[in-house]
Amino acid sequence: MSVPLLDLKVQYAPIRDEIRRAIDEVCDAQGFILGPKVTELEQRIAAYCEVPAACGVSSGSDALLLCLMAAGIGAGDEVITTPYTFFATAGVIHRVGARTVFVDIDPLTYSIDPAQIAAKVTPRTKAIIPVHLYGQSADMDPIMAVARQHGLLVIEDAAQAIGAEYKGHRVCSFGDYGCLSFFPSKNLGGFGDAGMVVTRTASRLETLMKFRNHGMAPAYYHAYVGGNFRLDALQAAVLLVKLAYLDQWTAQRQVNAARYQTLFQASSVAGLVGLPVTASWATRHVQNQYVIRVPAARRQALWDGLKAAHIGCNVYYPVPLHLQECFAPLGGRPGDFPESERAAQETLALPIYPELTAAQQQLVVDTVAALLA
Ligand SMILES: *Cc1c(COP(=O)(O)O)cnc(C)c1O
Repeated sequence: MSVPLLDLKVQYAPIRDEIRRAIDEVCDAQGFILGPKVTELEQRIAAYCEVPAACGVSSGSDALLLCLMAAGIGAGDEVITTPYTFFATAGVIHRVGARTVFVDIDPLTYSIDPAQIAAKVTPRTKAIIPVHLYGQSADMDPIMAVARQHGLLVIEDAAQAIGAEYKGHRVCSFGDYGCLSFFPSKNLGGFGDAGMVVTRTASRLETLMKFRNHGMAPAYYHAYVGGNFRLDALQAAVLLVKLAYLDQWTAQRQVNAARYQTLFQASSVAGLVGLPVTASWATRHVQNQYVIRVPAARRQALWDGLKAAHIGCNVYYPVPLHLQECFAPLGGRPGDFPESERAAQETLALPIYPELTAAQQQLVVDTVAALLA
């Protein structure tokens, strides 16, 4: 028996006919760019995130980029985020010409440590991008408090956390903008790249929609320089079908997370494996990744051993962003963000996808235990 990190084929099989009919509808209509499926998806995702407005875009990365452009953030500005996230979160800040200012993570949730934000705010700071990592909300109340105190925008990176809740409310309903990714491996994945910006401020929608389409309105008149960040109708058609199953898949992810917790606690290596922690504020954790910690000196062997046993696993993320070659001009040094660096050295993501079976999970835990024994 092998256990993949993610198995999209088993998710596709039972909904194959439904998806192919939805794709056929788009093919028969021959309308591929934006259109009624995209509008319907925008309305459904906005409602899902408890906000009034949404703008479908070409990827999660473009969602983040679009927010910064629409907010007029650029050269001379600073944006705060963490160095322990997927590259895009900080990459987009650089792409608009602004400066990334990193703040370390809270080691339990892997999200930005709100207590360390205020010290990094300068007169140039324009926005904070908290990341809801691995499917769990960042601690939004203190983040919003710092933002309000200093007049900063908040752009929630919820690429890994669609449907997650903070104190009973959906992520993306707290900040000025929320960014979602429909990359195939995210909890709601398309058949290619796709994303969405949602906003609780409906008046921001018009600007987002202009910047999504070259800053153009009306046709061939450009008051701004935007880009082509449009969402394809085919992706929207697929995502509309899959959205109906998202809560059921999330529930299965939660069952799997609880089962791992029980199995690891009963295992011989219970003391050696750090299990994921759900914060008290994270009232709905959507379990995009199940990430354990082991002593840094033992991780490589565990990673290699699992691969040799045909058990999928991965390290998100091996190099914190302040130590990435491309960000060397920002002057980051080892030791600057100790919790991000420790997480980069100790963590390992195990399979958690909805269709994972109890027998597969038992095998994963037994194999981890054998390798660490
Ligand atoms: C996946 C991801 C993104 C980027 O989304 P894409 O759709 O791949 O462009 C941004 N931020 C985080 C935290 C992500 O996990």
